[in-house]
Amino acid sequence: TAPASRTKVTAIPGDGIGPEVMRATRQVLEAAGARIEWEEAMAGAEAFRKGIGSGAPRETLDSIACNGVALKGPLETPVGHGEKSANVTLRKVFEMYGNIRPVREIPGIRTPFAGRGIDFVVVRENVEDLYAGVEHMQTPGVAQCLKLITEVGCERIVRLAACLAEAEGRSKVTVATKANIMKLTEGMMKRVGEAVLKEHANLQHEHMIVDNCAHQMVIRPEQFDVVVMTNMNGDILSDLAAGLVGGLGVAPSANLGDGVAMFEAVHGSAPQIAGKGLANPTALLLSAVMMLRHIGDFETAAKVEHALYVTLEEGRDLTGDIAPEGEGVGTDAYVARLIGNLG
Ligand code: NAD
Repeated sequence: TAPASRTKVTAIPGDGIGPEVMRATRQVLEAAGARIEWEEAMAGAEAFRKGIGSGAPRETLDSIACNGVALKGPLETPVGHGEKSANVTLRKVFEMYGNIRPVREIPGIRTPFAGRGIDFVVVRENVEDLYAGVEHMQTPGVAQCLKLITEVGCERIVRLAACLAEAEGRSKVTVATKANIMKLTEGMMKRVGEAVLKEHANLQHEHMIVDNCAHQMVIRPEQFDVVVMTNMNGDILSDLAAGLVGGLGVAPSANLGDGVAMFEAVHGSAPQIAGKGLANPTALLLSAVMMLRHIGDFETAAKVEHALYVTLEEGRDLTGDIAPEGEGVGTDAYVARLIGNLG
């Protein structure tokens, strides 16, 4: 039956394997009956080739602004041509201050941590900190980088973490900082974290020094529920966390701003395998599942997630990066198996 109403979503296929994993993801979503009207938009290498120095043309920005939701493939960052990163352009234009990275054990994906019940979310502040890109040479032998942390930035990211914890029925928020050394900048995150989380009496709140947090994530990852951090700490620990449950190839993410949400796989454009029909679309598909929940289509999200888990658990027709040695198939065969498991 035709769905009642469709949500418009901007689809940016991106570079390298981007168009392949985007096509695969859309095929699965369509087969599952997702109520989406796709609006395709361009960004990345093609934009740079056309002389658009920001990597994202006006029409793409307008489409995202208008729809408020985007699904994005990986975008190549040109090296050595002075162009900006298209990813950074999108993040900055829409002030997407929250990077959400779920870290959940995936059935059938073998890791040294399988069976531990890992299920937490890393919430990374995405626009401040050392990534403001304010650097200079103090003297010819001394470089300086500005670590910019604001109260407003800390408050909105901790609020986001708390709201996410409540929305997902989670019970604890860990604020991980280096406040013991950087008392003003990291200390602000710790202090604001305490104040904001006081308002959420239903949530348990803890503070952890970030280096110990890295250690704890490896030693006892099942203790975490929601972990919120400033930009650079979050950058490093979210990749570490992805490694616990199968690596970047199967890691989804969301970038959230006020009124805009962009969902993307954590991996890059994998130029070595681009155009060969070998790419694994799992990470983008899991990002699309997050997107479906964001737009309120919980039924299709559950259906797709279930088919994915069944397929991975069965272990047949998986792409080369996750299949047992010598048993890998192409993207199309994997997608066919996924669609067959939609039930
Ligand atoms: P990468 O993630 O593209 O590749 C790392 C390794 O993982 C490679 O061996 C690759 O073949 C493999 N791989 C990645 N995704 C895969 C998939 N879906 N299926 C099968 N194998 C997969 O990282 P990189 O090589 O460092 O970066 C390549 C380009 O991507 C660079 O231009 C970089 O700037 C860009 N990049 C973009 C994003 C983004 O748009 N969010 C993120 C990371 C990197």
